[in-house]
Amino acid sequence: MSCSGGGVSAGSLAQRMDALWRQQSARWAMMKTGLDGLKRSSSRWFDVNGSQVLAQCNPARVKSAGAKVDAASLAARPCFLCASNRPAEQESIPYRDGWVVLCNPMPIFDPHFTVVAENHVPQRIIPALPTMLGLSHDTGGRFTVFYNGPLCGASAPDHLHVQAAPSGASPFEAELAEELNRKGEDSGQGWIEWLRSSPVRLGVSRAGRRPAVFLTGQDEASVREAARHAIEVLGEVHPAEPEPMLNLFVAFTAGRWSVWFYPRRAHRPSCFGHGPEQCLISPGAADLAGILILPRPTDFERITADDVASVFGEVLLTPQAFARLRDRLRG
Ligand SMILES: [Zn+2]
Repeated sequence: MSCSGGGVSAGSLAQRMDALWRQQSARWAMMKTGLDGLKRSSSRWFDVNGSQVLAQCNPARVKSAGAKVDAASLAARPCFLCASNRPAEQESIPYRDGWVVLCNPMPIFDPHFTVVAENHVPQRIIPALPTMLGLSHDTGGRFTVFYNGPLCGASAPDHLHVQAAPSGASPFEAELAEELNRKGEDSGQGWIEWLRSSPVRLGVSRAGRRPAVFLTGQDEASVREAARHAIEVLGEVHPAEPEPMLNLFVAFTAGRWSVWFYPRRAHRPSCFGHGPEQCLISPGAADLAGILILPRPTDFERITADDVASVFGEVLLTPQAFARLRDRLRG
């Protein structure tokens, strides 16, 4: 249902999104339940290889974490991102050509938006990139925009969508902001190895840190092209269908875009499952950025920093493959 009039029809995009969030959290029962779940969720901090991870025990996320994303299961269910199947209470803000902003009724962040293509087309990073760069810019950097690959945490891999959360809301993003502020000689001492500086600054995590590729620049087209190229190189180092496996973030601060992605090799860790000896954990972008979603209290209570490190190690590119990616990106 399209939103007309009221507090969400005027003002800047970020203000309209804030207004939509307030309206929907006050009036939409499903979202109230999801938001209550988030507010009541317990949390624990871990240090995982020098980076902070906040585990969030949020039972409201159980459906999303356990979502079946095989072709037969997808074909058997109505797509919950298509306008004709969305709940009547879910309102939207049109965004650029062919997109709408929706509130995520099972949020991990407060606020947490899903930005959805109007057409039912599959989840792919290349068509998502311009919207991600645009949205981070058009909200004045208020929101960081992120993407889950079709086999990397997306619960609707058949319908193109990205998500938006308040900028700086994930531990990894906060650590990255600090790293990007290093100046001069100090910039060689950090946990990012910078490989080139022009036209887009490009770097990778140093060995031992969570593997990620980083790009920053002031020119939107150059950043988009450099990101597209880095993703293509990932596809050469670790080929995958229908696209190179990754979770990707875009932030916009002080006139610069920062794009970073976590290259993946697996959809879920070997411990994944609903059984008592298994762990219901299905890492997506938010998890890799340090907000680890554990819907089951038993998993939440027993998980250790070593377990989190193994889960990340199993779903992310191996150190050997990541070293090859680094070498190829250095050119
Ligand atoms: Zn759809």
